[in-house]
Amino acid sequence: MRYYSTRDKEHSVDFATAALKGLAADGGLYVPESVPLLPASVRSSLATMDFRDVAYETARPFVGGCMSAATLRDLVQDAYPFGAPLVAADDRFVLELFHGPTAAFKDFGARFMARAFAYFRRGEDRPLRILVATSGDTGGAVADGFFGVEGIEVTVLYPKGRVSPLQERQIAGLGGNISALSVEGSFDDCQALVKRAFADPELSRRLSLSSANSINISRLVPQAVYYVAAAGKAAAGKADEDGEATPRVSGYPAPRRESAGGKAVFCVPSGNFGNLTAGLYARAMGAPIDLFVAATNANRTVPLYLETGSYEPRKSVPTLSNAMDVGAPSNFERMTAHWSHLELSRVIKGVWTDDAATKATIERVHSRFGYILDPHGAVGWNALDELKAKGEPLPPVRVLLATAHPAKFAETVEPLVGPVKAPASLTAAMGRTVVSKTIPADFAALADSL
Ligand SMILES: *Cc1c(COP(=O)(O)O)cnc(C)c1O
Repeated sequence: MRYYSTRDKEHSVDFATAALKGLAADGGLYVPESVPLLPASVRSSLATMDFRDVAYETARPFVGGCMSAATLRDLVQDAYPFGAPLVAADDRFVLELFHGPTAAFKDFGARFMARAFAYFRRGEDRPLRILVATSGDTGGAVADGFFGVEGIEVTVLYPKGRVSPLQERQIAGLGGNISALSVEGSFDDCQALVKRAFADPELSRRLSLSSANSINISRLVPQAVYYVAAAGKAAAGKADEDGEATPRVSGYPAPRRESAGGKAVFCVPSGNFGNLTAGLYARAMGAPIDLFVAATNANRTVPLYLETGSYEPRKSVPTLSNAMDVGAPSNFERMTAHWSHLELSRVIKGVWTDDAATKATIERVHSRFGYILDPHGAVGWNALDELKAKGEPLPPVRVLLATAHPAKFAETVEPLVGPVKAPASLTAAMGRTVVSKTIPADFAALADSL
């Protein structure tokens, strides 16, 4: 598979180059020249396949030519000791993406990317420096994924005071090859600093720079995996057993099921739109997905674009679902490189939810159905409810992506529902000490600290 920059259809690179460079030299994002179709034999057996086998089949055409089949098999085996349970709650499926070490979906992308980078860089002497801007969850997942990986140094930039205490410990508590910069500004400022660093000739001469944001194609490919796996199960009407970290309260009636199966609608709590773009790839690969819901918080740039056709990036505003506080989603350029406004607006419904409705949803879903959502998942749950209330024709098979464990956002969730049991990985992270350097949102300050 070859990859082009969204801004230059003339020159293509292979997967390893696109992954290691992150952003193309012209500032564009790498996109595959085409989206491969999954073999029919795979599509017909998704419902019973092991998660790692789905990962292998989904990633194989994307990495083809850069990694042998055996290397890819080992990679996914090592990256995913956990899976993505599809559990039932009320009238829908919840796709729990928080069973990895940092309890958010970004573990899926980061763990694949870290292992792919280590493989592509084998035998190099100069360390690779990964720069990553985070609104909260990316930093922790990338830090955890790359921690201890030889030949790779990671610098995480996060907006000072706008990530939770736990997120800050996941980002800045590991040490070793991971350093943390606390930036006096917003996530958009952090992202602008990283973009500027990549465009700076002096820095590129001095350091081998790479990115790990959702602009990196090597994070999107593994994210397509859980859509493919879940769509296969949902189409067959099959829910999984609860996982170890499933935040369900016992003593509630069994979830109701309206349909035996079929093509699903996937509701995706969205910020930078990497996750939704991965979903679009999964659909184009032939996974049984009918529609998507792009669920945002008050940062509603994309829902407005879907409605009006005009894209107006804006400053981000802080909300309770802080990993989605993005006013200028970087993957927008990638989505629109593949699909027109008309195509996107046919396949994606945009809905935005404010903080009051987010809290009310956490409370209601807990008290009525005994399931505890985090603020990001609650934005998604509410979006599906709003579409239902408006009478939008939705397929009966509905899958909500639960992007983080509620214990990650205990300061918001616990006052609404009482104590939330944290997965063991989070309890361990809480015991770490934060070591980070505060810098102003200024390029000279960043260049100095690298
Ligand atoms: C990053 C994140 C999102 C947003 O994902 P995008 O790919 O940036 O759209 C949603 N929820 C959680 C918990 C996240 O960490």
